[in-house]
Amino acid sequence: MIIVLKPDATKKQINHVIERITALGLKPMVSKGTERTIIGVIGPEDALRVQPLEVIPGVEKVMPVLKPYKLVSREFKPQPSVIEVGDAKIGGRQLVVMAGPCSVENGQMLMETAKAVKQAGAQILRGGAFKPRSSPYSFQGLGEEGLKYLREVAQTTDMSVVTELMDVRHLSLVERYADMIQIGARNMQNFELLKEVGQSKKPVLLKRGLSATITEFLLAAEYILDQGNFNVVLCERGIRSFEDQTRFTLDLNAVPVIKKLSHLPVIVDPSHGTGSWDYVLPMARAGVAAGADGLMIEVHPNPEVALSDGPQSLLPKKFADLMKETAKVAKAVGRVL
Ligand code: PEP
Ligand code: MN
Repeated sequence: MIIVLKPDATKKQINHVIERITALGLKPMVSKGTERTIIGVIGPEDALRVQPLEVIPGVEKVMPVLKPYKLVSREFKPQPSVIEVGDAKIGGRQLVVMAGPCSVENGQMLMETAKAVKQAGAQILRGGAFKPRSSPYSFQGLGEEGLKYLREVAQTTDMSVVTELMDVRHLSLVERYADMIQIGARNMQNFELLKEVGQSKKPVLLKRGLSATITEFLLAAEYILDQGNFNVVLCERGIRSFEDQTRFTLDLNAVPVIKKLSHLPVIVDPSHGTGSWDYVLPMARAGVAAGADGLMIEVHPNPEVALSDGPQSLLPKKFADLMKETAKVAKAVGRVL
């Protein structure tokens, strides 16, 4: 249920509505817009059907939300959210690019990559210290050592850091070093992890699960908002399909669909979405054309020897080309890169 207040509703009237909702054993979530305040009501809504709220002064209308998610919905917050990560603002006219290696392998390669991607215009440095690998025998990441490199290199290059959290036991460790917490595709429905990052003060980058529908994706984000953390950015990174020419099928439909259904920003990851470096540029352009608020791109100074995702990693020079080419598309759709 969503309660839309009148544009001239007073603070006292708004507080009264909040008190009534709380008294009915429901949870009010307040969204203050520039024009009016909207209150989302979480919990069994039958109570509200018995005690109508339309009659309370200051209330304009009470609308049932037919969708299974509430806080992430456009109904709850009609204006798009802009999520701040360091100096970067994700969801505004300026597109935000997160770039870096798949895994942090050592300090030197990270520094070399970070300098190159920063120079080309990326604002956020990405790199995994905890890696979700299909095989237990593959490189699993450097753990805290990797987090330290990320922080050090970000400091030197004046960038922010996004890195993956896989386990609730590592939350405070990752929070100490990262500016944004990534929840990977394989953990999109790890509900306990979602609840924990929902209580964190750090913004969250939530990647779409390999076989998650858009509704499931939005419900996963709802878990984080429900715990009070509204700083969530969604990432379309490709889904499983019958197609085997590419690693995944980048579902660019998700961009306009999510924009319609939700106020949260959406970025596109053409690196994992295609699995091949030579498809990354065209799909980055396509993502921006579809309305994405940014990109996540894997870059490695020597992809041949990368410990993970070498085939989809761009050389720094190719990344710089991608930034230039994609900027043209951004301009054509009224955005800036
Ligand atoms: C990654 O960003 O390196 C990663 C593992 O992504 P995903 O969770 O989308 O596979
Ligand atoms: Mn990767």
